Amino acid sequence: MSIPALDMKTPYLELQEELDAVYKRFMRSGWYVLGEETRAFEQEYAAYCESQYCIGISSGLDALHLALRACDIGKGDEVIVPSNTYIATWLAVTYAGAMPVPVEPDVKTFNIDPDRIEAAITSRTKAIMPVHLYGQPADMDPIMRIASNHSLRVLVDNAQSQGARYKGRRTGGLGHVTAHSFYPGKNLGAFGEAGAVTTDDAQVAEKVGVLRNYGSQIKYHNRYKGFNARIDELQAGFLRVKLKVLDTWNDRRRERAKQYIGGLQDFPNVVLPVVPQWAEPVWHQFVIRHPRRDVLQTRLREAGIGSLIHYPIPPHLSEAYSDMGWKAGDFPLAEDLARTVLSLPMGPHLTAQQVAFVVEQIRA
Ligand SMILES: *Cc1c(COP(=O)(O)O)cnc(C)c1O
Repeated sequence: MSIPALDMKTPYLELQEELDAVYKRFMRSGWYVLGEETRAFEQEYAAYCESQYCIGISSGLDALHLALRACDIGKGDEVIVPSNTYIATWLAVTYAGAMPVPVEPDVKTFNIDPDRIEAAITSRTKAIMPVHLYGQPADMDPIMRIASNHSLRVLVDNAQSQGARYKGRRTGGLGHVTAHSFYPGKNLGAFGEAGAVTTDDAQVAEKVGVLRNYGSQIKYHNRYKGFNARIDELQAGFLRVKLKVLDTWNDRRRERAKQYIGGLQDFPNVVLPVVPQWAEPVWHQFVIRHPRRDVLQTRLREAGIGSLIHYPIPPHLSEAYSDMGWKAGDFPLAEDLARTVLSLPMGPHLTAQQVAFVVEQIRA
């Protein structure tokens, strides 16, 4: 048996007829940028996220960046970010001209630890940027409370958690502004690059919409030095098809996660992800920890099982941020996760037999 870490081909096959129809409709429309598909997707995705507004954006990174800009966060400002995240969260802050200030995670859930946030707030802090990592919602109530006490914005990176719920509510509508990525491997994945911003704040929504389009709403009248960060019309059409099956596909992921947990919970050295009782995760990744992670990964590879490491280098130790002077030991929890995490095969087309095989091989 050969099991890829991520199956990128079967999603198309399951939806082929509908996706091909979108393509044909799009090609014949003669309208290729910011058209009907985009408008319809924005409405449907806002409703899905239980959010007032949705603005389609070119990528998740651009969505984070424009969310920061729309909140007037930039030079001289600090933004609290998780030490344990994909580097894009930090890059968006850097793009905007602000400074990322890392806060360590709760290692049981991998997400930013609310109890550590207040110590990182200074007079320059403008926002907290939690990430719902691996499909698992961050603990938003204490984060919103801290933000309210210190008059901060909460900008959320929901790139990995489309459809997840926190205390019954969708993660797409919890913060002041939320950024989404539809990179192909995400739970709601396009067939190319795409992203979105959701918010209940009319002013932020309006500004993001203008910023994505050269800073202009009326053609050739430019209010801001904006960007070209528009969602691709064809991708918006594809995403409408995939949005319809997102909950079903997330349910399949939950079944597989349940199976992994059942099969590995009593097994020594394998540390399983913990799901707080208020969380309904969508298992973007199924991430275990193991003290000899690299050996385990090699053995699985030899058995034909793909796995991935999210992420091997925490952002503060990446070459890109070497100018900041951070060193090994500065954020030990994130560094320990980088050494021990392993993402097992996961996805809506992973079968029960495949998971059983992975579990069997890990136990062997
Ligand atoms: C994928 C991802 C992004 C970036 O999204 P793109 O669409 O690839 O630009 C940002 N943050 C996190 C946590 C991600 O996983």
